[in-house]
Amino acid sequence: MLQRSTYGEVVLFRLARGFLGRGVYFTASYLVDGLVVDTGCRHTLAEFAAATEGVGIHTVINTHSHEDHIAGNALLQRRDGARILAHELALPVLADPRGTLRMALYEHLAWGMPEPSIGQPIPEEVCTSRHRFRVLRTPGHSVDHLCLYEPEEGWLFTGDLFIGGRDRALREDGEVWRIIASLEMVAGLEVRRLFPGSGSVRENPLPELRAKIVYLRELGERVLTLSRAGQPPQVIRKTIFGREHPLAFFSGGSFSGLHLVRSFLNGEEH
Ligand SMILES: [Zn+2]
Repeated sequence: MLQRSTYGEVVLFRLARGFLGRGVYFTASYLVDGLVVDTGCRHTLAEFAAATEGVGIHTVINTHSHEDHIAGNALLQRRDGARILAHELALPVLADPRGTLRMALYEHLAWGMPEPSIGQPIPEEVCTSRHRFRVLRTPGHSVDHLCLYEPEEGWLFTGDLFIGGRDRALREDGEVWRIIASLEMVAGLEVRRLFPGSGSVRENPLPELRAKIVYLRELGERVLTLSRAGQPPQVIRKTIFGREHPLAFFSGGSFSGLHLVRSFLNGEEH
């Protein structure tokens, strides 16, 4: 399933595997001035290939190396000769997804395994003919996470750093204090339009970004307070969130409220 929409110069492709006529776990790819930010998942590759045919994509940037952001890389490299730019820690994953990605069953079902592609370390700035993008290192959701900022337009491409709503769970490899620090960094920029990895584009996103930071900081305080009172992580999770997140079951425990609690306890507070 592919949904195309435009935001000024920026084209959004929302991509998801169709199930009973509905998309399951949308992921986003953005196209602007011959540059593509993230390339979707394996199950939507054929639709993504058709939608980008003849555009002449010269550059791909991956915000990070998760399987729902890199699967069109090989196609664009082969078909359009696009260069692929990513964080240096993402490059081994791009080159060998099968050997490096630890995907849960639901991730195989929703997104599928990407083809290998050859990336280059991303510089601090990436230019297209009309735009100059600043590359921001924003670890937390993953160690290799980047955001892209276009200061003239006030555009911020956030990958999976920013997901709306109130987080009640975290990936096993997520680091919540680093997510908060990265959110604080981007919330200090002049952002007029935010393009997240989910495809739910936000106008005037700073109030929502700041609210997210406040929510996570308050959540961290509650976790630490309960921990100082002697509660173990499982009890803290239950006290704060009640029932475990539904994906905790489908992910085999790799995405859960317990990981979020543990991340607050294990991580270094910033
Ligand atoms: Zn991700």
